[in-house]
Amino acid sequence: MAKALTILSGGQDSTTCLYWAKEHYDEVVALTFNYNQRHIREIESAKIIAKLAKVPHEIIDMGSIFAGLSPLTDSRQSVEKYESLNDLPCGLEKTFVPGRNILFLCVAANRAYVMGCEDMIIGVSEEDFGGYPDCRSDFIRKMEEALASGLDRRIAIKTPLINLTKRMTVELAQSLEGCMEALAHSTTCYNGDVPPCGHCHSCLLRQKGFTEAGVSDPLLSRGQLDAR
Ligand code: ZN
Repeated sequence: MAKALTILSGGQDSTTCLYWAKEHYDEVVALTFNYNQRHIREIESAKIIAKLAKVPHEIIDMGSIFAGLSPLTDSRQSVEKYESLNDLPCGLEKTFVPGRNILFLCVAANRAYVMGCEDMIIGVSEEDFGGYPDCRSDFIRKMEEALASGLDRRIAIKTPLINLTKRMTVELAQSLEGCMEALAHSTTCYNGDVPPCGHCHSCLLRQKGFTEAGVSDPLLSRGQLDAR
């Protein structure tokens, strides 16, 4: 029985990874981190999505370990607003949370080990990610090696989205049974707004993917229904 752990933030990419995992493994578990993030609503999203996907779900409380490092972990800092994707700055975005994926993968490896998972899955992508160094394949491979050298068995890190554009991620979601329905409950907005603010880096990238794929975002349709 192949078993995998998926890191589920409650956003678009991790939701897509969860449904990808359901088609590639006999057994899937989901793991969510509460790190007092600004968009804490995504934890509620993760709960709903794990339930829809019918997978066991664990939430680990990391406390305020990343406090003050980024607008995503410090409510005194504001999330940048942009009119369009053309306004996004080049280089590393201020929303980068240093150490986040390093720590998440260490803790996830521990849980994967305990639960007997061969693989763990994380929804990082080299494209479109504000220059985050911990979303690159070079980091992932080195992390996998570091974990393997510190454990008595290897846990592989799978990154199904690593080379996909946002459009391709939407197309992948469409091909996965139940995924679009789950995406209606995901939270992508860095502000955690419902309906999404539409002007943060994350909202703009999500819009780009759905627009380029020619698909309407199920989250927006749900928002319209909720607003009635
Ligand atoms: Zn937003």
